[in-house]
Amino acid sequence: MNPAPYIGRFAPSPTGPLHAGSLVAAVASFLDARAAGGRWLVRMEDLDRPRCEPGAADTILRQLEAYGLLWDGTVLYQSQRDDAYAAALDALRGEGAAFACTCSRSQLAQAPRNAEGEIVYPGTCRLHPPPRTAAHAWRVRVEAPGTHFNDRIRGALQQDLAHDVGDFIVKRADGLFAYQLAVVVDDAFQGVTHVVRGADLLWNTPRQIYLQILLALPTPAYAHVPLVTNAAGQKLSKQTLAPALPETRRGAVLAQALAALGHPPPPELAEAEPRELLTWANAHWHIENVPTRPAVAKPASAAENA
Ligand code: GLU
Ligand code: ZN
Repeated sequence: MNPAPYIGRFAPSPTGPLHAGSLVAAVASFLDARAAGGRWLVRMEDLDRPRCEPGAADTILRQLEAYGLLWDGTVLYQSQRDDAYAAALDALRGEGAAFACTCSRSQLAQAPRNAEGEIVYPGTCRLHPPPRTAAHAWRVRVEAPGTHFNDRIRGALQQDLAHDVGDFIVKRADGLFAYQLAVVVDDAFQGVTHVVRGADLLWNTPRQIYLQILLALPTPAYAHVPLVTNAAGQKLSKQTLAPALPETRRGAVLAQALAALGHPPPPELAEAEPRELLTWANAHWHIENVPTRPAVAKPASAAENA
């Protein structure tokens, strides 16, 4: 039997334009797919409507095109996929794997927290089911001794899901489905075989593998690429005011992204355009050369003079 064909994806949340950090994740997933002769899809994770910025999805698509990151097929929008997420929640409920939770933020304020600062759900509503009349979230019941997984960049990893995460939310009390559920449903729906994304999502992976098991969905291969931080060591994000990708000197910006991924282009490509850099990187891509340490972004002015 032939191995499954490679299908990769980039799944940005359209809360703002792409910045140097999201470019690294986009480039890594693109190159890993293309170097394997695979397909590369784009999915807009516009699930958390209140956090999405009008126009950002289109801006992101134009930015990808300008940087030579051309995707296959049509873009999937999570805002159109509520029926699929509802069906998955029904399936979880059908097997008794989900329960209603009415705990408010303040009720959970005293709950233990994990190393990432996330609340570890103390099991309140699992033990004492609340009346169904109140507005409620849905949580998935975590009954797993531990989850082992193998990251293609980070190697063998393990998380004790029950101890470090606890019963986690799959649908919020405000009616929005949670990222963890949507990502699992959509990766399966799109036939994704390889997930390549930023290291900030590394410790979400066991939750996703757990949901895949409960929903009888295949588990893709995972690879988590280093984050890009600013000079203060903060992850580049909208919250840390990361600037949008520049519209000039794109080659220099792309070369920095490639360097952050352990694939610095040779000096003769110093003036090259994105297309040429990507052709070079495609021919030289070895995921084992991607470092695990975060890269520090050069300030915008330095990038312009690079
Ligand atoms: N939408 C997520 C983000 O922008 C990425 C989800 C994923 O790649 O699994 O952080
Ligand atoms: Zn609760």
